[in-house]
Amino acid sequence: MRLELIRRVNVPQQIWQETEFCMRKCGAKHNECIVFWLSQQTDEPEISVAAVWHPKHLATAIGYDVPEDEIHRLHEYLYRERKAVIAQLHTHPGSAFHSPTDDHWPMIHSRGFLSIVVPFLCSNGGDRLAGFFVCRYLGDAQWEDISISNVRELFHFER
Ligand SMILES: [Zn+2]
Ligand SMILES: [Zn+2]
Repeated sequence: MRLELIRRVNVPQQIWQETEFCMRKCGAKHNECIVFWLSQQTDEPEISVAAVWHPKHLATAIGYDVPEDEIHRLHEYLYRERKAVIAQLHTHPGSAFHSPTDDHWPMIHSRGFLSIVVPFLCSNGGDRLAGFFVCRYLGDAQWEDISISNVRELFHFER
């Protein structure tokens, strides 16, 4: 699946609720959390998030680590279910941005892969995209930042 073709990501209400619930529960107001959004494999420009994958991971207030065997387990699942990871989402205790570690260690090394950083350990209600940081992987540890107006074009949160 060529992730660089994606121009619109539909996020069903239940997917966002699951993501939010997971990040808040796992982070327990202290630690970062990471989840993946999966879709069916397709080369259509418009896709829908079909599942949330919460990997086994370590976390502190300033970082997370997903063990290699967990990434392996994810890839086996994707192959079996004919799904793809389109985005990683992780929380920060404060504002959202990409740290040097975030830049250097994308969980998936595919061009067009999306990274979403959610501020304040996902404790904000209200406007879902307020304060989010989103960027897109270009390869070779290079990312393209996506402006908030383009973020609002890219993601459609279903209600
Ligand atoms: Zn977590
Ligand atoms: Zn980070």
